[in-house]
Amino acid sequence: QQEEQLNIEKYQMVGQLAASISHEVRNPLTSALGFLQLLNKRELSAEQFELYRDQAIKGIEQANHVVTDYLHFAKPAVDEIRQLDAVQEIENIKPWAIPLAEQSGIEFRIDHHSEGVLPILGDSRKLQQCLYNIIKNAVEAMPNGGRLLIETWRDDSGSVGIRIKDTGIGMTDKELARIGLPFFTTKEKGTGLGLMVVISLIRAMNGRLTIRSRPGLGTECLLKFQTR
Ligand code: ADP
Ligand code: MG
Repeated sequence: QQEEQLNIEKYQMVGQLAASISHEVRNPLTSALGFLQLLNKRELSAEQFELYRDQAIKGIEQANHVVTDYLHFAKPAVDEIRQLDAVQEIENIKPWAIPLAEQSGIEFRIDHHSEGVLPILGDSRKLQQCLYNIIKNAVEAMPNGGRLLIETWRDDSGSVGIRIKDTGIGMTDKELARIGLPFFTTKEKGTGLGLMVVISLIRAMNGRLTIRSRPGLGTECLLKFQTR
């Protein structure tokens, strides 16, 4: 009985995600299609041609961003929560995180403060999606370089902590209060979906997320996961 109930809730979450994805992907694609159709018109000036082409590209890029924020790693499916090793999960981000940081001249460091494995309950794809969305925000907050630090440890209460810290532009209290709300973004090409996805995935893994930030100094995302 109990298990059934939990699964229904998860399916509902998946359904809600799917509904907002299709909406958010379709809008910019419809716009791109409109501009591409305009390109077929005869007697376009060079300026009009460029404008329509650039708007079409923009729409396709935006749709691509939305899909990336939702689905780069995580399939919106009801996955099994299993035992993972937080240390290994963090090591697994290196192939994409190092080049991402290097592109922006960011110094990237990982510190594991505990010896050996750090068992947590979670889903590897969901966790990778969370880390990707958080790290992408950190990188985007440091367009002129900075430092990105990721730490793992076992805390006194037996849970496991993962901290992602940047030295980027930071957030005002007002901005901080709005993050995670669907479509809240301060970026020209933002989707405002990244942290919403992070929050719902962490909730699905029974973890916790705390974000601290100071304008001009940087931002710190603290993830806590249960060991069993
Ligand atoms: P997006 O990245 O598409 O804007 P997100 O949901 O990932 O959407 O983030 C929402 C907003 O939260 C961002 O537009 C930004 O204002 C703020 N934000 C998130 N992470 C950071 C960070 N590390 N540093 C500064 N601002 C951040
Ligand atoms: Mg983002």
